[in-house]
Amino acid sequence: MLSPRVICVLTALVLSTGAVSSPSSSDSSERARHKVKSLKITILSTMLAEAGVGEWGFAALVEADGRRILFDTGLRPETVLQNARELGIDLSSVTDVVLSHHHGDHTGGLLTLRRELAGKTPTALSRVHVAPGIFSSRRRSGSEKEANPTIEVKSGMEASGAVFVEHREPKELSPGVWLSGPVPRPHPERNWGPPASIVTSGGLVADSIPEDMALIIETDRGLVVVVGCGHAGTVNTVEYGRRLLGPKRLHALIGGLHLFAATDSTLAWTAARLEAADLGYLLGAHCTGIEAVFRIRELAALGRRRAVVAAVGASFDATKGIDPLTLAQ
Ligand SMILES: [Zn+2]
Ligand SMILES: [Zn+2]
Repeated sequence: MLSPRVICVLTALVLSTGAVSSPSSSDSSERARHKVKSLKITILSTMLAEAGVGEWGFAALVEADGRRILFDTGLRPETVLQNARELGIDLSSVTDVVLSHHHGDHTGGLLTLRRELAGKTPTALSRVHVAPGIFSSRRRSGSEKEANPTIEVKSGMEASGAVFVEHREPKELSPGVWLSGPVPRPHPERNWGPPASIVTSGGLVADSIPEDMALIIETDRGLVVVVGCGHAGTVNTVEYGRRLLGPKRLHALIGGLHLFAATDSTLAWTAARLEAADLGYLLGAHCTGIEAVFRIRELAALGRRRAVVAAVGASFDATKGIDPLTLAQ
């Protein structure tokens, strides 16, 4: 007979994914699943920059056991292209891109990257992973103009021969590298900025950025979670990853957590939840906020080598930890 805890986990999986085809945390599939051994994540767009240029945006290159995935593409058309060049990183062998959500500070560089890199390698950035809702029409209050810049990016990409793959549930993109699909939100974190609306047949509805998704990488040392802007909520995302792949320690959390304007009590709650997940490293980029990184560092007792404000070119290695470069060390 199933124990109450197992029933609870299975129920949570069915409710949260709408399917049971996602990985189970049972012992047998746990043993069968691939654990990434070599993992490096390099920041290619964020605000702080000592090499390349900084901007309000996010992008990171994920290299897991020799497989490479670009996660988000920055705000300005040229930023990630130029930063990668300056850092000596060749993106032309990267075929797969993840767009965490529709905001232009995550999708603005995609078309330029595709056009530039496909000249050298036709398959470069030819497959784009997204979640349902990313192409929904949006409006800002008081304006009739289309507020979703990624609709235009989609047509340009498709004209170039690239394809979009829509994910409604978790998917293993390469061995040990899982795309979350849409993240259930049991905690009311509400991590987003000025209100916008989604255009539906029944009128405008508040935009909660339902398509927001993350990468969850299963390593020998625990889970590494990469988020773009954290709109689904930092804790919602981390806890979903631990429900999907087993309640392992959170080896690292990397990306934009959208906590720059969070209250002291929200930061304390978030830090307590991350500490409970045994957070090892925090590379807080983009909209995490500088004070939020320092506060979580203190509250979760991480110390300066384990919680760092991300700069362009900063990286996380699953074995060696964070390389913060010069200024943020
Ligand atoms: Zn956003
Ligand atoms: Zn953002």
